[in-house]
Amino acid sequence: MNERPRYSIVAPCFNEEVVLHELYRRICQVMDQTGEPWELVLVNDGSRDRTPEIMRELHAADPRVKVVDLARNFGHQIAVTAGLDYARGDAVVIIDADLQDPPEVILQMIDRWKEGYEVVYAVRTERKGESWFKEFTAKLFYRIIYRITDVDIPLDTGDFRLMDRKAVEAIKRMRERHRFIRGMTSWVGFRQTGVHYVRERRFAGETHYPFRKMLKFALDAITGFSYLPLQLATYLGFTIAGLSGVAALLVVYARLFMGTAPFYGQATTLVTVLFLGGVQLITLGIIGEYLGRIYDEVKGRPLYLVREVLGFDEEETTKEPRQTTEDGGRRTKDD
Ligand code: UDP
Ligand code: MG
Repeated sequence: MNERPRYSIVAPCFNEEVVLHELYRRICQVMDQTGEPWELVLVNDGSRDRTPEIMRELHAADPRVKVVDLARNFGHQIAVTAGLDYARGDAVVIIDADLQDPPEVILQMIDRWKEGYEVVYAVRTERKGESWFKEFTAKLFYRIIYRITDVDIPLDTGDFRLMDRKAVEAIKRMRERHRFIRGMTSWVGFRQTGVHYVRERRFAGETHYPFRKMLKFALDAITGFSYLPLQLATYLGFTIAGLSGVAALLVVYARLFMGTAPFYGQATTLVTVLFLGGVQLITLGIIGEYLGRIYDEVKGRPLYLVREVLGFDEEETTKEPRQTTEDGGRRTKDD
């Protein structure tokens, strides 16, 4: 059994061949300053480039580099989850592979951790090299999430954070499929604090978060932490019913005292009917978003499948399948 590291750095990687060497170099530079044992857990999220080969090379050259090779692309949040499942450090840091999160900040996080904080998240004060659209939608998103969810998710934080073993174990017990890890780490509580940093531009390559993925991510976050969209149907229902009550009184009044009908012709009827149809379809769609997610949960499939792991002991390599059976208390015994 190899030495249990004090720190684990978890980096999800999807087509990151151009950044991996630099990531490794920077992580070594920073982590060696701690003078304590550490491991770098690289999760290959079904890359289609040379990412897995480079990971293998890095592992062969330095056994502190561990590899979790997923069977296909499972998405960023699931890749991070796989990394957390395998990481063994007393403190675990989640970091993007593209060096947008400067590894130097980890040292600050470690200082706060040693002061007794169990979750240290990184708050970005500035974002470099990202389009105004991404910056604007991100800002808007964090503010909406902040307003409508029940957990206090700090503004402008990504997944770049350090977690104490206690917090990691708590997260590992949350096996939900549509994951919003920054929300989940707030939800677990514990003593939390933030450190500030400037988000750099990507070291190389391009973002793997096109608008479509960002939208799905936002929906996962909202549905995972808020019922507000569902309650919207109730609010809309009351508002529209109230308005139509007023309209009915107006019609009666106009008929009795003015001798005319205040609403004329088919156009009014048509617009009203279409409007209501639209509202109903939207609320149905909202229910659909929740329903689909419930269905995914009920199926109870494993969160991810692993092709191969490198650098973990036998005990750890058998971990994933075991975990999915232990998973979320889905035992049939009591059913
Ligand atoms: N990533 C991943 N799976 C995906 C998409 C992204 O593991 O399906 C990783 C990616 O390699 C990077 C991190 O998630 O380490 C953040 O992705 P990216 O830099 O593309 O997003 P952005 O920083 O532009 O939001
Ligand atoms: Mg990035």
